Amino acid sequence: MAYSVQEKTLWGHPKGLYILFFTELWERFSYYGMRAILILYLTAKTTDSNAGLGWDKISALELYGWYTFFVYALSVPGGLLADRILGQKKTVMLGGFLLVVGHIILAFDNITAFYSGLVLIVLGVGALKPNISTMVGGLYNKGDAKRDTAFTIFYIGINIGAFAAPLLVGYIGEVINWHYGFGLAGIGMAIGQIVYLWGQKYLKEVGNFVPVIREKGTNKKVPLTAIEKDKMIVLILSFIIVIVFWAAYEQAGGLMNLYARDKIDRVVLGFTIPASFLQSLHAFYVILFGVPVAFLWDKWQSKGKENSSLFKMGLGTIITGLGFLLLAAAALETGTTLDGKASIYWLFGAYLLHVIGELSISPVALSFITKLAPVKYASLMMGSYFMVTGLGNKLAGLVGEAAQNAGELTIFMGIFIFCTSFGLLLIVFVKKLKKLIHGADDVNKTIPIVEAE
Ligand code: GLN
Repeated sequence: MAYSVQEKTLWGHPKGLYILFFTELWERFSYYGMRAILILYLTAKTTDSNAGLGWDKISALELYGWYTFFVYALSVPGGLLADRILGQKKTVMLGGFLLVVGHIILAFDNITAFYSGLVLIVLGVGALKPNISTMVGGLYNKGDAKRDTAFTIFYIGINIGAFAAPLLVGYIGEVINWHYGFGLAGIGMAIGQIVYLWGQKYLKEVGNFVPVIREKGTNKKVPLTAIEKDKMIVLILSFIIVIVFWAAYEQAGGLMNLYARDKIDRVVLGFTIPASFLQSLHAFYVILFGVPVAFLWDKWQSKGKENSSLFKMGLGTIITGLGFLLLAAAALETGTTLDGKASIYWLFGAYLLHVIGELSISPVALSFITKLAPVKYASLMMGSYFMVTGLGNKLAGLVGEAAQNAGELTIFMGIFIFCTSFGLLLIVFVKKLKKLIHGADDVNKTIPIVEAE
C-alpha cells in the first residue's frame, strides 16, 4: 500500500497525492458549480430569456435537499463496490466517468436529460468521493505523521474547487445560459478524469482490490478481532460528532444564506456584497487557514500536548459552536438598529470560527477513518462517513426550517449551547475512548519519511 523507496516524492509526499488532489479538485469544481446553479435553474421562470424549469421554491428546496442527501448517501454502495468487487482505484475511475457523462447530459435542455443527469451525478459522486478519500490514506504507512498533513493538503484542493466553481459556473450559468454552466461543470470533471487516467502510474500500489479472507473449507468470513471491534465502536461514535458538526455548519447554504440576504448590512467600503458571494467565504477561509491550522496542531503536538483526533474533533465542535454565539450577537443587534440589520463583521467572524472548527474535524475525520477501519472495510466505513455527513446536511435543513417559527436568536443560541456542550463532553471522555483505539491514532516518530515496502 504505502509508498516505496523507488517511488519519487514531491515536497515530502508521494506524487500520487497530487494526482488525487487535482482529480478531487475538479470533481468538487463540478459538484459545487452545478450545485450553485441548481436551485436557481429550478426556480427560474420558463419565460425568462435564460429559461429555467419554473418550479416553486418549496418544491425546488425539497429536490435540492434530497439531492444533497443522496449524493452523499450513495457513498455507502460506492464504498461496498470498492471493498467487494472493484477496489478503490477502479471505482473512482467509474465514478469519474459517470460524472463526466452526467454533467454533459445536463448541458442538454430537456427534462429527461435533466433527471438522468442528476441520477448519474448521484451515482458518480457515490463511487468517487469516498474511495478517493480512502486512497489518500492508503498512500501512507501506519503511524506516519504525514497522513494528517496529506489530508489537509487534499482538503485544500477540495476547497480550491469549491471556491472557484460558484464564481465561474455560477456566472456562466446564471448570466449566460444554465446549460452552458452545467456543461462547464462537465468540462471541469473531464479535466479531473484526464488527470486521474494520466496519473495511474503514480497510483500503482494504492486502491487495489483486497479480497475478504474466508475461513479454510467454509464459506464464513473471518470476523473482526476484538481490537478491530473496539476501533469500529469508536469510529461509529465519532460519526455522531460528524452529524452534529455538519448540521450546524451546513446552515450556511440555507438559513444563513437567507439571513445574510435579509438581516445583514452587506455594504462594505461602499460596495454591496451579494448574499450568494458569501457562499464562497468558507472555501476561501479553508484555503487561507488550512496550512496554518495544521501547522499549529503540529507545534502543539511537538510540545507533547493532547493531540488525538478525538480531542481535535471535540475542540472543533466547540469552536464551531462559538461561531453561533457571534451570530446570536448579530441577531441581538438587529433589534437595536434602525434598519433592523446587523453588521456583516459578525458573519465574517462566525464563518471564520466555523472553518477553524471544520479544519479540526473534517480532514481529521477522513484521516481518522483510514487509521481505524480494517483494510477490508476501509471504503465501506468511508462511505458511511459521507452518508452521515449527508444526514447532517438534511438535519441542517430541518433546523433551518425550525428557525422560521422559533426565530434566529433562539436557533443560534440553541446551536451554540448544543455544540459547546457536546464538544466538552467528548473532551471529557477522550482518555477512555483512546483506550479503545489501541494506539491506532498515535504518531510513530521512528517512521522514516520514505519507507521501503
Ligand atoms: N466540504 C467538504 C467536501 O466537499 C466536505 C463535504 C462533506 O463531508 N459532506 O468534500
